[in-house]
Amino acid sequence: MATHENINGLILRTKDMGDHDRYLTVLTAERGRITILAKGGRSLKGPQTAVSQLYTYANFEYYRRGDFNILKGGSPIESFYRLAQDMDRLNLAAYLCEVAAEFTDEGEEAEDVLRLMLNSLHAVSRGLYPLEQIKGAFEWRIAAISGYEPDFSGCAVCRETYADPFYLDVMNGAIICPKCLSEAGRTAKIGAYADELREAEIRAVLPAAVVAAMRYCLTAPLNRLFAFELADANDLSVFAKQTELYLLSHVGHGFESLRFYHKMRETER
Ligand SMILES: [Zn+2]
Repeated sequence: MATHENINGLILRTKDMGDHDRYLTVLTAERGRITILAKGGRSLKGPQTAVSQLYTYANFEYYRRGDFNILKGGSPIESFYRLAQDMDRLNLAAYLCEVAAEFTDEGEEAEDVLRLMLNSLHAVSRGLYPLEQIKGAFEWRIAAISGYEPDFSGCAVCRETYADPFYLDVMNGAIICPKCLSEAGRTAKIGAYADELREAEIRAVLPAAVVAAMRYCLTAPLNRLFAFELADANDLSVFAKQTELYLLSHVGHGFESLRFYHKMRETER
């Protein structure tokens, strides 16, 4: 007997099969990523169509048959339709979805990632902040949610809380003040961490304003995540570059949608 189910989720990915069918990869709070088959999801009419479109957040009604979840219908909650009005916004949304799929699993709750995605798509679709700012805050926060939270409370060696700049030790998720960094080059006084520090290949210079923004993004409520300002264009550019580098370094690979996003941005210049 088929069991009927009902769940809210965001469509991260669609894959068309044959002339009519479409597989939906849906991110849910309770069950993480699930796959739902929309029979007739590609046709222009029918109860499934409105809840078979990419980036749609909806309530899905489906039943289970064997290993498959088969879509019956549902109702859209938010379609983020403004994404379609701007190529950069659309490309960024594709990247956010690819990252969210990477960091979630079937059967594992994903409430924070889902909330982060909904807030991010809302901001991207309406262009509420510079895209680089939304993208960076998203990358930084999803890394933190997914087990790569950097320790920004102070210098990893002397615990000093203020320096301008700090140095980011990407792989250890730590910041180091200039004094400790220069000592690490000369002496073993700072302990075992000195060896790691000398070998840390990926190190970035973070101006104080960027450190402040990154600290904000680690702790801000998700609905206020993007509400900060990096007034200096250079600071925003450092923020954007380092949040991306940090995420990619910990994931260990790039993303096709990210390459495409950058390529199109460059073409526009
Ligand atoms: Zn220090």
